[in-house]
Amino acid sequence: MSYYSPSIEKLVESFEKLPSIGHKTAVRLAFHMLNAEEKEVQEFLNSIITAKQNLKYCSKCYNISDTDPCPICGNPKREESIICVVEDVKDIIAMEKTHEFKGVYHVLHGSISPMNGVGPDDIKLKELLSRLNPEVVKEIILATNPRVEGEATAIYISKLVKPLGIKVTRIAHGIPVGGDLEYTDEITLTKALEGRREL
Ligand SMILES: [Zn+2]
Repeated sequence: MSYYSPSIEKLVESFEKLPSIGHKTAVRLAFHMLNAEEKEVQEFLNSIITAKQNLKYCSKCYNISDTDPCPICGNPKREESIICVVEDVKDIIAMEKTHEFKGVYHVLHGSISPMNGVGPDDIKLKELLSRLNPEVVKEIILATNPRVEGEATAIYISKLVKPLGIKVTRIAHGIPVGGDLEYTDEITLTKALEGRREL
């Protein structure tokens, strides 16, 4: 039995569906919204709806962007000869914060995980392979997360890419095993990038 009215209960449930939000935080957020000015709530809702409507995948790298191509693919100063392969859009932000990487990206939107029923066709792997013109692309940096799935994905991709005559490297292990790129600090990530080894 609930202590809250059905409307509040529903709002709390909605917040609870968000990542890293437990029940207590959900209750706090729900009451914050209820106490907020109507205008503030409306602005908050509009920002979510606008982002959801405007954002699309970049047709080259599958980054999420307001524009297609995304600002990185559309920047003529970025080197198209080096592609850094990441699992998630948030990993691009982590890499960009280092200011060390001047190439372009490819977002897989996941990693191969047979345990969870995710196969090579379920991530943006075909899309990566279709970009690999050996005349243009000289190196692929595999920056998938250092978890079992990320490692397996890196090995799988390297086996497909090496026969094309493109250099395949893997970022070094400065990143704690089981860690996520998005939570790795910039110095560690810069070192991991500098210390990448050929597969
Ligand atoms: Zn792009």
